[in-house]
Amino acid sequence: MTKPAPVADICQAPAVTSLSGVGKALAGKLARVHIHDLIDLLLHLPLRYEDRTRTMPLAQLKPGLNCLIEAEVVGSALHRGRRTSLQVQLQEQGGRLNLRFIHFHANQAKAFVRGKRIRCFGEVRPGPQGLEMVHPEYRLFTGDPPALADKLTPVYPTTEGISQTRMRQLVALAWQEYELHSHWLRELLPDSIISKHGLPPIATALKQLHFPDTKQVFELSEASTSPAYQRLIIEELLAQQLCLRQARQQASLNPAPAFTADSHTANQLCQSLPFTLTRAQQRVWHEIQTDIQQRKPMLRMVQGDVGSGKTIVAALAACQAIDAGYQVVILAPTEILAEQHLHNFQHWLQPMQIGITWLAGKQKAVERRQALAAIADGKAQVIVGTHAVFQQAVTYQHLGLVIVDEQHRFGVAQRQALLQKAPAGTTPHQLIMSATPIPRTLAMSAYGDLDHSLIDELPPGRKPINTVVISNNKRDQVIARIESACSAKQQVYWICPLIEASEELQCEAAEETAEQLTQALPRLRIGLIHGRMSADEKTTIMANFKAAELDLLVATTVIEVGVDIPNANLMIIDNAERLGLAQLHQLRGRVGRGQAHSHCLLMYQTPLARLARERLHILRQSNDGFVIAEKDLQLRGPGEVLGTRQAGAISLRIADLLRDAHLLPKVHKLADHYIQHPQHSQELIQRWVGSRQEYIAV
Ligand code: ADP
Ligand code: MG
Repeated sequence: MTKPAPVADICQAPAVTSLSGVGKALAGKLARVHIHDLIDLLLHLPLRYEDRTRTMPLAQLKPGLNCLIEAEVVGSALHRGRRTSLQVQLQEQGGRLNLRFIHFHANQAKAFVRGKRIRCFGEVRPGPQGLEMVHPEYRLFTGDPPALADKLTPVYPTTEGISQTRMRQLVALAWQEYELHSHWLRELLPDSIISKHGLPPIATALKQLHFPDTKQVFELSEASTSPAYQRLIIEELLAQQLCLRQARQQASLNPAPAFTADSHTANQLCQSLPFTLTRAQQRVWHEIQTDIQQRKPMLRMVQGDVGSGKTIVAALAACQAIDAGYQVVILAPTEILAEQHLHNFQHWLQPMQIGITWLAGKQKAVERRQALAAIADGKAQVIVGTHAVFQQAVTYQHLGLVIVDEQHRFGVAQRQALLQKAPAGTTPHQLIMSATPIPRTLAMSAYGDLDHSLIDELPPGRKPINTVVISNNKRDQVIARIESACSAKQQVYWICPLIEASEELQCEAAEETAEQLTQALPRLRIGLIHGRMSADEKTTIMANFKAAELDLLVATTVIEVGVDIPNANLMIIDNAERLGLAQLHQLRGRVGRGQAHSHCLLMYQTPLARLARERLHILRQSNDGFVIAEKDLQLRGPGEVLGTRQAGAISLRIADLLRDAHLLPKVHKLADHYIQHPQHSQELIQRWVGSRQEYIAV
């Protein structure tokens, strides 16, 4: 989007480098947590607070408390186990507490002399010999105890190279600066809102949250319902909403091409299909058709569970654009998925002499040059690829429709780059396909005015997948199961999820698994596919598997989305406990596509943590992606589910779209009101969105 014109008297807050002691190096580290100026520092709220204003009597300690204690050292000893640890016994007025250190120096151990006084801050936990603190912060002293803090101590999110203490100092410095020159932090909410809801003014709110007065302890969960916090949440959601509206308004100045309704190519494609569209597919196809006949750019998300048949609907929309003389881009997050689309589109459209071109990161120079030429002169009518499709070197002759599959993996900024490639003064229509149902309120806040279509029906004849959760100890049984499936001419996936820190190690792990399985199952034809293979290698392996020349395919999660091989009806997911629900559901959706009953074995390493057990259990109970996604949202939060946290698309600082969803209607109303206050509106956007603006979706 184009940046809004600067309004004359918006006061930019001073940069962090204006603070004494903050140089380029520190500024660079702060930028990593999106802190550029003093407002950013003041909007960087504590994660929680520690109470160091008083000491807690040992007799009152309970597991889970984070507190300050003062006591006497009554003994210390080294415990030799698998790992040597240092244990220190404390006592005070009949109460006891142990300290445990796993990493320590010899000198440190010697300093715990019987009779010394100690001040400690840490979390109280149940230990083998009663309550303990593991690696607390501590200070040994003789004589007068060190002074107590007079305020709650905030704990900030921070980043490598910036200590808690430093972060606290920086925020305090920013606050001092604000008290001296307050003009860059004006009150921007109308009086009516503030007084009606009993909210504090911005400065009061920030002061309370950074330097909480009195001795009341508040946990973040409580803090978020405090008026100070609520005020900031409302303000942030408002700023985000205003920014979205502004961006959409600017985009709508550039109309989209209007395609005619009656598409010869689409009709022909429909007739050539070996199946008829489900009612849900027909309905969604109709919704899209209605949109793309308009000059108003379409922004529509098609949601449908794994296997619901989103691709054919997208292909029909593509036909309509092609008939109108426009190019269509199909953008997929991984090469494997893009190849799958390429294959489908070739199969469907090439018989009608439609030019289809492939564009990917790893491509031979000649091939790439040819592709770029075809895209530029319009011979390529459909362009299928990965992120390569929006790189700078790619010039489109007449881009009219962008289809994005599994959108949540792309940064919105990336999609933006693609939109810029439409002919000057126009915006292409956009169709986003997703198997991850995103609640409407969330989507609205992430995309602004987004339309929704739902394919809420699976093609006939699909059978539910039988899911079993099984311990890694029973690997032998699992292997026997594979053998019998393959002797019945069925095909099997074995998925090795990321258990190593790097992709390289993950691929090695997959190679090792493939080797072990080859030894255990000498009669089977076993293939291996992972992210570090070349596109050619991957295509060959997938083609072999599809042609049933392989019985068992060992794969990393590269095959997570889109891959479609009906004869494969058994899937083993190794280390399933490491994966999120949505990802497991996606993976599992690779089976259950043919006539036979399908099975998915979720294999876990013991012991299984509670949350992981819960996840696997949900999956065993439900085959419904929507139910699963809802649970996923509860377990992980919307940032992760939308996959935009890393891309920064909805980088909210304070608000949480799920937690604060109930505020959205109020915020939308408030936003209407701001149309009359462009100055305030601009200043709010600057304050909250500032340099992140480029990520806002249009
Ligand atoms: P997804 O929604 O997960 O992207 P796909 O578009 O890959 O699903 O479709 C899954 C499979 O179902 C494909 O093999 C596709 O050809 C097939 N399919 C799509 N629509 C129908 C239908 N109406 N009847 C039968 N099979 C269909
Ligand atoms: Mg798909």
